[in-house]
Amino acid sequence: MSEAFIVTHDCPMPCLEVVFAKCKATERVFAVCTSCGCAWFEPQHETWAPGNLGNCVIDPKEYAPKGFVVASHSEIRKAGFESLIIEVQDGEKWAEDFDWYSNKFCVSPA
Ligand SMILES: [Zn+2]
Repeated sequence: MSEAFIVTHDCPMPCLEVVFAKCKATERVFAVCTSCGCAWFEPQHETWAPGNLGNCVIDPKEYAPKGFVVASHSEIRKAGFESLIIEVQDGEKWAEDFDWYSNKFCVSPA
């Protein structure tokens, strides 16, 4: 079974989960909320307090120009974010969500 790794249940927009993702173009690991589309490249510095978007990147074409996939545990560890994981969820569900989001907002022409 594949797994997805949750950073917080409370996206500050506010939405729900923020999940670790990997940019297909750069392989950089970041945190993303596919409800509002916000992404964070330095999740270790975020408070996730309601309304505090922190250092957030809003444009999906900027943070993942070729879309993004669910980041694996080893990729998250390599990025130094392992200690930020608060929960493990079903990776299939998030893979589908990320695919849909990537095709709709990252890859397709505006
Ligand atoms: Zn959100």
